[in-house]
Amino acid sequence: MDQTRVDETTVLIVGAGPAGLVLGNLLLAAGIDCVVVEQRDRAYVEQRARAGFLAANTVRVLVENGLADGLVKNSQQHDTCAFRTEEGEFQLAYGELGAGEVHTVYPQQALVTDLVAEFLARGGDLRFETAAVGVDGLDGDRVELLTRTADGATRLLRGQFLAGCDGRHGFARTAFPADAARRHRREHGVSWLALLAGAPQSMAAITYAVHEDGFAGHMARSADVTRYYLQVPAGTDPADWSDRRVWDELAHRMRADRHGGLHQGPILERRVITMASDVQDPMQYGRLFLVGDAASLISPSAAKGANLAVMAAETLAHALVAQLHRADDTALQRYSTDCLPRIWRAQEFSHWMIGLLHGPAGEAGDAPFLRSLQRARLANLRDSRRHQDQFAQEYVGI
Ligand code: FAD
Repeated sequence: MDQTRVDETTVLIVGAGPAGLVLGNLLLAAGIDCVVVEQRDRAYVEQRARAGFLAANTVRVLVENGLADGLVKNSQQHDTCAFRTEEGEFQLAYGELGAGEVHTVYPQQALVTDLVAEFLARGGDLRFETAAVGVDGLDGDRVELLTRTADGATRLLRGQFLAGCDGRHGFARTAFPADAARRHRREHGVSWLALLAGAPQSMAAITYAVHEDGFAGHMARSADVTRYYLQVPAGTDPADWSDRRVWDELAHRMRADRHGGLHQGPILERRVITMASDVQDPMQYGRLFLVGDAASLISPSAAKGANLAVMAAETLAHALVAQLHRADDTALQRYSTDCLPRIWRAQEFSHWMIGLLHGPAGEAGDAPFLRSLQRARLANLRDSRRHQDQFAQEYVGI
């Protein structure tokens, strides 16, 4: 391998998102050396707005590991969601249903900022603007990771294990030999315009509007920022959506004339997300372990991705501690087997949510049939306590 300098560590971590940073912090707390490499600069990762809804189990991991100071001080709790349809609105107080769990709302960029600060405070080695570009030795005794910094300098890092926490477009998933894993993939045929509005939330609850012109969603983020979603045709250019057009369409699909107006403000971010899901099975090969979006991309319809990333990071951290402190490789061997059932259950719920929120337009083919199924699902949620309990459990659980 091309190289200039070589650094040694125990665990190499690619990616400073929730997965890599939780893993890194847990390893440092257990006295295990690691290096995190992140291709972007610090400001970029600390400002990248994505998730916001954290499950109780995710909060538990953060609290138990001393990673929740900012979250405890600055988060909100959400326990109710609402569905708006042509027939009216119904609310589900999911905090009083199912397992009685609530969401903690804390913007992902704030969580990432806290995790970076804590990792550095614990003496961690975190290298921004450093991309992983090559790997060797996955089925040998040591892994060699070739990295390249923004100025083009290369450096070789050597470690016992490699954690691929580099997200959906990352490098680690491509390092598997062709026949070593199977990727299960689905395109859902739905796109969302994901919006961040510089305005307080308009409703007390997370609100899902099912409309013949397409889905619209409303989710709190912070006191003066709210996330909205609008279903849009594939290939939509976000630039075609002016602030005026966004607010008019949100008001139309949210049926503001019946349920009250929206708190408007500047649209701070607009981008199109294509709903796609994939799962890599197994999530490990030799000394390489995939964590978070790198292992399994999940559509944001049920807000599970960051939560799955944190849970997998905890599972891998425990397995590495068992291996490195007690020479017990049982948990490491079982890493995929332990994570995949949790991932598939989240995928199942996420997929069900896509069917709940989006009905196909028009009269062609089976579109009317699918829309009737959608209405039946919504009616079950509105009227049946058994369906409500199950929904609550899966909506917040992970
Ligand atoms: P990422 O956060 O993607 O981090 C991967 C990191 O690796 C990145 O910083 C990237 O720059 C770096 N990287 C990539 N390649 C390399 C390389 N070669 N070398 C070095 N570094 C590299 N999830 C929820 O749980 N709740 C929600 O409410 C929610 N809402 C969402 C809303 C939107 C609009 C979107 C897009 C996603 C949402 N998600 C939500 C999903 C969630 O944001 C992701 O699942 C989460 O970021 C995954 O974390 P990760 O650490 O696995 O990957």
